[in-house]
Amino acid sequence: MPLTSADDWSRATVVPGPGEGTLARVGPVALLVGSTDPTAVKPYLEHAQMVAANGGQGRQLVRGYALMLSTAVDQSPGFAALAPHSTGLAVFVDGDVTVTVDGEQISGADSLAWVERLIPWPVSSVTVTLPLTAAPTDDSPYRLDGGVVPAGSFTVPANSPLMKAPTMAPDTAEPAMAEAMSGDAMIDDSSGSTDEMAVPATPVPPAPPAPEVVADIPEAAAHAHDDGHVHDAPPPVPSGRPLPPPVADEHVSFQSVLMSDVDDDIDDFEPLPIVEHAEQVMDDAAQEMVRGVYCKNRHFNDPRVLFCGICGINMVQQTPVLVSGVRPPLGVIVLDDGSVFQLDTAYLLGRDPGADSRITSGEFRPLPIIDQSNQVSRVHARLEMRGWDVVLIDNNSTNGTFVHVPKTPDWVRMPPGTEQVLVQGTRVRIGHRTLAFNTHAGASS
Ligand SMILES: [Zn+2]
Repeated sequence: MPLTSADDWSRATVVPGPGEGTLARVGPVALLVGSTDPTAVKPYLEHAQMVAANGGQGRQLVRGYALMLSTAVDQSPGFAALAPHSTGLAVFVDGDVTVTVDGEQISGADSLAWVERLIPWPVSSVTVTLPLTAAPTDDSPYRLDGGVVPAGSFTVPANSPLMKAPTMAPDTAEPAMAEAMSGDAMIDDSSGSTDEMAVPATPVPPAPPAPEVVADIPEAAAHAHDDGHVHDAPPPVPSGRPLPPPVADEHVSFQSVLMSDVDDDIDDFEPLPIVEHAEQVMDDAAQEMVRGVYCKNRHFNDPRVLFCGICGINMVQQTPVLVSGVRPPLGVIVLDDGSVFQLDTAYLLGRDPGADSRITSGEFRPLPIIDQSNQVSRVHARLEMRGWDVVLIDNNSTNGTFVHVPKTPDWVRMPPGTEQVLVQGTRVRIGHRTLAFNTHAGASS
C-alpha cells in the first residue's frame, strides 16, 4: 500500500543496509549521513532531532539544513534527510548521496548546492544510498523503528506493513531535546544527550569496505571543528555555498516541486540594506560589523544558532538571509561577587589591567580581578570578540588560567598564551576568583 500521508510515512518500515554511514530515524525524520564519526554527524543529527521534536515538518527540515549549509565553511560529509510535509515527502540531499523515490533518482552529487524536493503523496518506495553502497535486499531481516545506527543505506520498501503507531511520539523523548537546545537548559543538557544519540550502539549488518569514501571524512570533520577556534579576523561567512533557491534538477522526471515554491506561511522579510548599516557605524570603531541573520522579531543573530538569542524564537522557521549588521553584545561575564560585565567590547583581565596601554587607547576595557592570593598577574588574560565568538586568551600568566567547560569533569589549565572559544556556561578561574560566561543573560533586555 503506498504511503499517502505524513502519518503513513512515520509508520513505514525502514530497513537499514550495511555501509560506512550513520542512519537516524527520529520520529518522522529519517537521516542518512556519510560518516561514522560522531563529531561529524552531530550537527546533522541535532537538527533532525530538533525538527522531530517540533513535529517533524518537512519545511523546517529543509530550511534548517539549507541554513546550516549556507553558513558552513566546509562541505558536509554528504547526507540525505527526509520528513513529511502535508502534501508530500520533503527530501533534502547534499553531496554524493542518492535518494530514489518510486524508481526516480535524486542526487546531490551533480549539484553545486544542495537539492531539495517535495514529492507529492502517494509515495510507494524510497531508497537512500551512500556512494559505493548497495541498497538493502528484499530479504533483509533488519528493521529500524527508531534510533541511530551505523548504516550505508536504507529502504522503505513498497507494500510493507505500517507500524501500529509512530515509534517516537513527539511528546515522549524529544521535547527534552528541544528544551535542551533552547534557553538555560543548554547549559547542562544539550551536548550530553546528543552525544549519546550520536554514538551508534545498535547491532547492524556488517559493513563492506568503502575506502575511498572513508578517507575523506576525518579531514572534513577536523576542519569543521577548527572553525571558530582559529579565525583571526573575519567571522565565519559563507564561502562559495550559495543560498537558495536551488535550481531544478532536470533529470528528475516525476512530479515534484521545490520546497521554496510551496511557501505558504512565509512572512515578508526584508533586512535593512547593508550599506545603510555600514554608514551608521563608520565613525564608531567600537561597533563591529558581523554577518548574521534576523529572527522573525528582527533580533540580529549568529547564523549558526537554531533559536534567537533574544526572544528564543525558532530561527529555522525564518527564511535564512545573511546580512551585515552591528554585532550585539555576545553575553556577559558574571564574577563570583555578582558583578556583571557585558561582552560588547574586549576586556583585559587581571590584578591591575588599568595601566595597560591597550586600556588607555580604548582598545580594551579593564576587568579587575581582586584576589588576596597573589596568584593573579597584572594582566592575566583577555577576552576578545571575533565574529560571533567570545575568545579567552591566557596572557602567559604565571599561575595560569583555568576553564571548566559544561559537561566536562574537570577544570583544565589553559596552556600559557593559548586561546579558547567560550561556550555557554563555561567557568573561568583566575587565582581564587571564578567568572562565568553566560550568552543568554541579555535575553531579557
Ligand atoms: Zn528574536
